[in-house]
This record gives sequence, C-alpha cells and structure tokens, in this order.
Amino acid sequence: MKLFRFGAPGRERPGLIAEDGTLRDVSALSGDYAEAFFASGGLERLRSIEAAVIAACPIVDASERVGPCVQRPCKIVCVGRNYRAHAAETGAELPSEPLLFMKAPSALSGPFDDVVLPPSATKADWEVELGVVIGREARHVPRERALEYVAGYTLVNDYTERGFQRDRGGQWTKGKSADTFCPVGPYLVTADALDPAAVELCLSVNDVERQRAPTRDMIFDVPTLIAYVSDFMTLLPGDLISTGTPEGVGFGHKPPIFLAPGDRVSYGGSGLGRANQRVVAWSGAS
Ligand code: MN
Repeated sequence: MKLFRFGAPGRERPGLIAEDGTLRDVSALSGDYAEAFFASGGLERLRSIEAAVIAACPIVDASERVGPCVQRPCKIVCVGRNYRAHAAETGAELPSEPLLFMKAPSALSGPFDDVVLPPSATKADWEVELGVVIGREARHVPRERALEYVAGYTLVNDYTERGFQRDRGGQWTKGKSADTFCPVGPYLVTADALDPAAVELCLSVNDVERQRAPTRDMIFDVPTLIAYVSDFMTLLPGDLISTGTPEGVGFGHKPPIFLAPGDRVSYGGSGLGRANQRVVAWSGAS
C-alpha cells in the first residue's frame, strides 16, 4: 500500500493511492497516520478493506497540498555518515558504530512545501535519505527481527544549515532542526512492498544531479540501525529514522555549494516517488 496525507498544515487527512493509481480520501475509513493509528493495527485494518470500498472513496483533488505522509512523530532519529563516500567527502573517519543525532519533530514538512532558510542561515545544504517509519514499539530488538517493527518507508530530505552545525558551538541539532528542514514523503510505502536495501536515491539542484547512490551502500543497514537505536531509546509507532545521506552534498564540493532563495531541489527514490522543494528566504511571518 501507498499512503499519503493531504490538506492544510496541521489539518491533514489520510489518503491512499488505490491500485488503479487514483488518490483516494480514506478519512471516512481510517484515522490519521499517527502513533495511535500504527499502534492499534491501523495498517492491517486499511489493508483488509476491499478494493471496491476504496474505489468508492472520494478522489483527492489535484489542487490539494500533500502533507508529510505521517503525522508529526514523537522522535526523528537521524544517522550520520552512513555511506563511505559521504564520510570521505566530509573529511570524516568511517564510524565504528552508527552515529546518531536528533532532528526536531517541528521541522517536519510536506514533500512539496517551500524550504524556508532561517534569517542567519548562509550554508544550507541538502541530504536525500531513506526514511523508516516504525510500526510498533521497539526496545532492545534483535537485528534478525528488526524489520518486523517497520510500518513502511519514505523519502526524507535532511536539510542542514552547515554554519549552525559546524560553526555555532558544536553538536548537530541546531543545524538540522529549522522549520521545514524535514520534508517527508510524497508517500509511505508499506514494509511488505519495498526492500530497503534495493532503493536508488537521487537528488538534483536546479536540474543538475548532485546525488545518486543505492541504499545497499549503507555502512549500517536498516535492520542494524533499528536494532541499534532500540538499545538506547524506545522507538514508538510513527517514529521516523532517517538513515543517512550518500555522497554529493553541497558541503562536499570544492568550493562548497550552498542553497540560496530561488533554488529548486528535486529528488526521488526507486519505489518511493519524487518530491521537490523551492528554497525561500524567511519572510518574518510566524
Ligand atoms: Mn542526514
């Protein structure tokens, strides 16, 4: 199944891409794709609905905004330097264990929303990544069973302000957490329908390709990451793990390339669709 959310920010409703490719409003059949939905067997309920019932649901108007494909999660856990060539381009050593950091859940945004540069940002960068949405509570999960805890997969752009990340007192959280710095979607592909090791990621800025790599190049694969994270914190249904970006970020260029208002960032993943954002300056509106 492919699930998406649509509507104004904070008031999104659940949608489903039917087998015939039409976008259906399933809000009469399902709760929103949030912690309680996943925790209460919402995916299984949706899957059990007959195709004829889905086909009778209203079509989502093409003018509707597409929201992030999951409601704001309790946690967004990110993995740093999880591709060898990306670690090399940042001048860093290969990690001996997964390098984890958190991105503020308030950074979540829709896959086609503008990305807004904070007023003092000068080094904004892109990072296309495979996102993993957790389906049930996970603590101290063995690697062999880790995929049983996955609801599905999606695309994440882990936008990063390198100046905040590197020049403003250390630690990565500041550079990762601005509003709109975490577009998620366009849709969630349920775990039964995608092999997380067989996704090709790519990203372009102003139609120039900057990133392209297969997720099989990850240093720590998805089962390893879920097991690892669950040893340090409980993963809740709806939580998002962003699994790291491959080489080709702006910071890795010589000289570096950073985003400016007017730039267009476009990316995709095989089986996961495509998303794009326009870069805009902060306007002062709250
Ligand atoms: Mn990242």
